[in-house]
Amino acid sequence: MPAPHIDEAVPVDCVVAGAGVVGLAVARALALAGRDVLVLEAAGLIGSETSARNSEVIHAGIYYKPGSLKARLCVAGRNALYAYCAERGIGHRCCGKLIVANGEAEAAKLDAIRVQAAACGVTDLEPLDRGTLSEMEPALRADAALLSPSTGIIDSHGLMLALQGDLEDRGGAIAFNAPIHGGSVTPAGIFLDVGGTEPMTLLATTFVNCAGHGAVALAGAIEGLDRSHVPTAYLCKGSYYSLPGRAPFSRLIYPVPEGAGLGVHLTLDLGGQARFGPDTEWIDTINYDVDPIRAERFYDAIRCYWPVLPDGALTPAYAGIRPKITPPGAPAADFRIDGPTEHGVPGLVNLFGIESPGLTASLAIGDLVVEKLAVR
Ligand SMILES: Cc1cc2nc3c(=O)[nH]c(=O)nc-3n(C[C@H](O)[C@H](O)[C@H](O)COP(=O)(O)OP(=O)(O)OC[C@H]3O[C@@H](n4cnc5c(N)ncnc54)[C@H](O)[C@@H]3O)c2cc1C
Repeated sequence: MPAPHIDEAVPVDCVVAGAGVVGLAVARALALAGRDVLVLEAAGLIGSETSARNSEVIHAGIYYKPGSLKARLCVAGRNALYAYCAERGIGHRCCGKLIVANGEAEAAKLDAIRVQAAACGVTDLEPLDRGTLSEMEPALRADAALLSPSTGIIDSHGLMLALQGDLEDRGGAIAFNAPIHGGSVTPAGIFLDVGGTEPMTLLATTFVNCAGHGAVALAGAIEGLDRSHVPTAYLCKGSYYSLPGRAPFSRLIYPVPEGAGLGVHLTLDLGGQARFGPDTEWIDTINYDVDPIRAERFYDAIRCYWPVLPDGALTPAYAGIRPKITPPGAPAADFRIDGPTEHGVPGLVNLFGIESPGLTASLAIGDLVVEKLAVR
């Protein structure tokens, strides 16, 4: 970025990069804390990237490392999200989820999942036997399962519209087609170089980088932020395949997790449509095409718990891409929410690796960002 001139820059209080669900939740939280907030979004609408390409599941917080940001923010965010949905009339359903086991080896893993969940503050998992399961979900084949009653589904676009509404009610605004190209940290504040339809330079007291897949590049383009505080970005695509017609189950169905993934699971949307996925595919550049061939490896996995899945039933639906900060084969990283305490730059917060459960955790992430900025 060329050396900015303080007299040419437009002064603003808080700038948030990105109008996905996390950027909007952060902007809302800052506005509720009394700050003047401007969201700059590269695209022409809210929530057009990862926030529009996920499973729309309100996660209970079962599988994360106890004490991690993912674990803490998922549980806090889930509780806040149910309350917010009720208050604002956002479409959601606390439909519950079954983690199903077939065979002794898988059934034994259910106990370990319960222990891990309890360490994360999720104490409502209920063990179920085969008889109870066949009454609850007659189409399901499973020897045993855990019921997670606090897992649900949500209209994620309705959530984002409500967050935008709260922001605007508090005097905040969103500028669209306004990509931030970079910035520089100075004693006067953080200069931001904004391109797009109305290029300009802003001088922000506070800058929160919630740019999703763009967050690593954007942080790397901020002069004055030490490069040791900028991770490497990786992309891990997840494709979904939908099942036409009536869903065979009324709850979300997950196999016992294997290896690094959650297995081929079934989620539902609020219209009652079932879809399977997402799978995992490491890629180099963003593309959202869904390859019909990848569905073939789903059939055997699904038939372990739903034997009557007809041949050829799955149709390509959509794909989302996880914004990873660890490479293939490495354990999934925790969320990175780096504020002044982590990197030493006053007024700056960078959010990296906000993959699942970022939607569930969004309101809690907003609160954490406000907290981090209050530390001087
Ligand atoms: C396959 C998949 C399934 C998932 N399922 C779930 C789930 O069921 N439940 C759950 O809780 N979470 C889920 N998640 C995670 C959740 O979707 C994300 O954590 C969340 O959507 C991230 O929101 P965000 O605002 O950080 O990013 P995004 O939604 O990607 O928003 C970032 C925004 O920043 C903008 N931007 C980028 N660069 C710039 C720039 N330089 N200047 C200005 N703007 C910029 C982009 O245009 C974009 O709008 C899933 C994720 C994936 C990939």
